[in-house]
Amino acid sequence: MKKIAVLTSGGDSPGMNPAIRSVVRTAIYYNLEVVGVKHGYKGLIEKDFIPMDRGSVADIIQRGGTVLLSARCEEFKTEAGRQRAYKNMQEEGIDALVVIGGDGSLRGVQKINAESEIKAVGIPGTIDNDLSCTDYTIGVDTAMNTILDAINKIRDTATSHERTFVIECMGRGSGYLALMTGLAGGAEYILVPEIDFDPKEVTDKIKQGFKRGKLHSLILIAEGVKAPFADLSEYNGSPGMAMGDLIRERTGMETRVTILGHLQRGGSPTATDRVVASRMGHKAVDLLLQGKRDKMVNYKNNSIGSCDITDAIVKKSEIDMKIYQLANILSM
Ligand code: ADP
Repeated sequence: MKKIAVLTSGGDSPGMNPAIRSVVRTAIYYNLEVVGVKHGYKGLIEKDFIPMDRGSVADIIQRGGTVLLSARCEEFKTEAGRQRAYKNMQEEGIDALVVIGGDGSLRGVQKINAESEIKAVGIPGTIDNDLSCTDYTIGVDTAMNTILDAINKIRDTATSHERTFVIECMGRGSGYLALMTGLAGGAEYILVPEIDFDPKEVTDKIKQGFKRGKLHSLILIAEGVKAPFADLSEYNGSPGMAMGDLIRERTGMETRVTILGHLQRGGSPTATDRVVASRMGHKAVDLLLQGKRDKMVNYKNNSIGSCDITDAIVKKSEIDMKIYQLANILSM
């Protein structure tokens, strides 16, 4: 193996830059050539390659987003698109590839390994922390801290005005961010896609809280919550907006809704994200040097290792019930 490529794909996450930096510098340390691929898989198809040296990843460790840029690329899902990508990599003399991204991007890694000579490995980069076989995905800690910062600020105004606030955070299929930040932010209710809830219970608890003299109520809801709402189309798909209306109707209380949106994806990566990204980037190159392919770098029990991509792309379908119960106990 002489030359490797690195790309970031799918939804960006804070910590992708320290991961790129680690891949590039580890590879150079082991006398490998490195090219960066711009715009994810699109760059493979369009031959958007740039040579990387130590200097090309200087001063990026603290930056959010990804300097290689990310994209979603439908063409890579087609056989013809992928064959073009393999040909381009072959012409460039690329022997192996590191892909940093979420489950969709990792499916691309599987295809590359199955259909070409190129050895490909993945690094989990997504704020959702929704992949199996790893306790951690790069970006989740920064996103949690961003959400927590917003909760703290909203808490100030919620207390001053004695209002109920619904905060909608990211997590289409996963309630991880809502659960963890709800616990850390002291939310009264945490609503996640994995657990059904009765809106009446939520509104009753809010009313009881105010009767007991609570100055505010905070409800954290993941964007992926569908049930028990019959139709979210009038709320532009937002369960937070629907929940806000329901609380107003049933309690008569002033209720405000904040949808945090894309600000959760941005920001300088936290210390934890930088450390894990640096360790994962190093491990990815290490796997390639050992001749491994079709692996995802993982983080389990405070240790960096690897697992088969097939096992990794299964999305976590459950949340940690012990943490959910703890959050409930502490919000009484
Ligand atoms: P994420 O990696 O954040 O989950 P996506 O699901 O949008 O994001 O996937 C990112 C990209 O990975 C897609 O735009 C596509 O180029 C590639 N990809 C996703 N699924 C597949 C697949 N089954 N086969 C080949 N490539 C895929």
